[in-house]
Amino acid sequence: TWAQVPQGPPDPILGVTEAFRADRDPCKMNLGVGAYRDNDGKPYVLSCVRKAEKRLLDKSMDKEYLGITGHPGFVQRASKLAYGADSPALAESRVAATQSISGTGALRIGGEFLSRYYPYAKKIYLPTPSWGNHTPIFRDSGLEVGQYRYFDKTTNGLNIDGMLEDLQNLPANSIVLMHACAHNPTGVDPTAEQWDQISQVIKDRDHFCFFDMAYQGFASGNVDRDAQAVRQFVSRGHYVALSQSFAKNMGLYGERVGTFSLVCQSTEEMKAVESQLKILIRPLYSNPPLNGARIVNQVLSDSTLYSEWLSEVKGMADRIISMRTALKDHLVNDFGSQHNWDHITNQIGMFCYTGLKPDQVEKLTKEHHVYLTKDGRISIAGISSRNVEYLAQSIHAVTK
Ligand code: PMP
Repeated sequence: TWAQVPQGPPDPILGVTEAFRADRDPCKMNLGVGAYRDNDGKPYVLSCVRKAEKRLLDKSMDKEYLGITGHPGFVQRASKLAYGADSPALAESRVAATQSISGTGALRIGGEFLSRYYPYAKKIYLPTPSWGNHTPIFRDSGLEVGQYRYFDKTTNGLNIDGMLEDLQNLPANSIVLMHACAHNPTGVDPTAEQWDQISQVIKDRDHFCFFDMAYQGFASGNVDRDAQAVRQFVSRGHYVALSQSFAKNMGLYGERVGTFSLVCQSTEEMKAVESQLKILIRPLYSNPPLNGARIVNQVLSDSTLYSEWLSEVKGMADRIISMRTALKDHLVNDFGSQHNWDHITNQIGMFCYTGLKPDQVEKLTKEHHVYLTKDGRISIAGISSRNVEYLAQSIHAVTK
């Protein structure tokens, strides 16, 4: 029956971890997947999360189904975290929002909703490059996928002119996806002034902006600063869509907790949108899981846990920044690399787009047991003070 089913390729990102696991070398490093590790290279469960879990356990709560759009307290608090406590759109009850299966599920709900109801287009434009899963998510949602220029290979920074030009030249009312902060895979974000310019072009051309916010707090260490682009767009009258994930900033990867939301023009519109989100979600997975939403709700609603969370997010962001500095220092000062490595410290968030070519990446893996995606992206979160020098030495060896 299934003889006609062709063998599919492994996932480009998760496949790296499989290869890493099979390697027996003690020096091996996995810089493929974007999961935070502590300075001992161990998975890190936040202390505010452990405390929230204890409290929940003590309450002996039931395990009843959530509604289709999830845990109301969680959704409300998560929306506040994204749009700001003083957001007029929230105060005016015109943000349609639902719990989602983390960021991926939020993007998929958004893609499905746009493909059904966005009246002007069935195509979404992504930055080049973008997170590898964006294309299949939107394609499977029934949207065509296009691109706009983003990363400049010659500077390892933002190609703002190319980006603005492409946004300007797209058909009016196009759907564009933007990374709210800590762009994956490049680690390159627009500055506040550049966001102004982007917002203006999007406004002029009546484009629709779908923000993917998977790293709130990871870019600057401050959750409000990292939400600035989203808030600025909303305050300028953009009716944005937003995917929000708590995988990284609360270390809840496997709990699968996030939200999808859409800023509407009125409460009436919001209600209609929410009714359609329910109709869309019900046959997909009926209703979302309970546990992660309860944990996030607990952390966001308790001022002590909330402050603790803010300092833990900052701690993660700071450790990543210190690893960037150490990596560049070793390359330039200890190994005397003649290349310019400024982008390692200029880029932000969990990832560094090293600029390594595919053959150098292959050598790094084959000869030095360092695992990363073929595009030369490394997860800085996988580096520790113990192996940063080994990594620098290995990168130097393949780029000499
Ligand atoms: N968007 C981006 C840009 C990401 O990097 C990720 C995680 N790698 C996600 C969305 C979704 O992740 P999750 O489904 O685990 O929340």
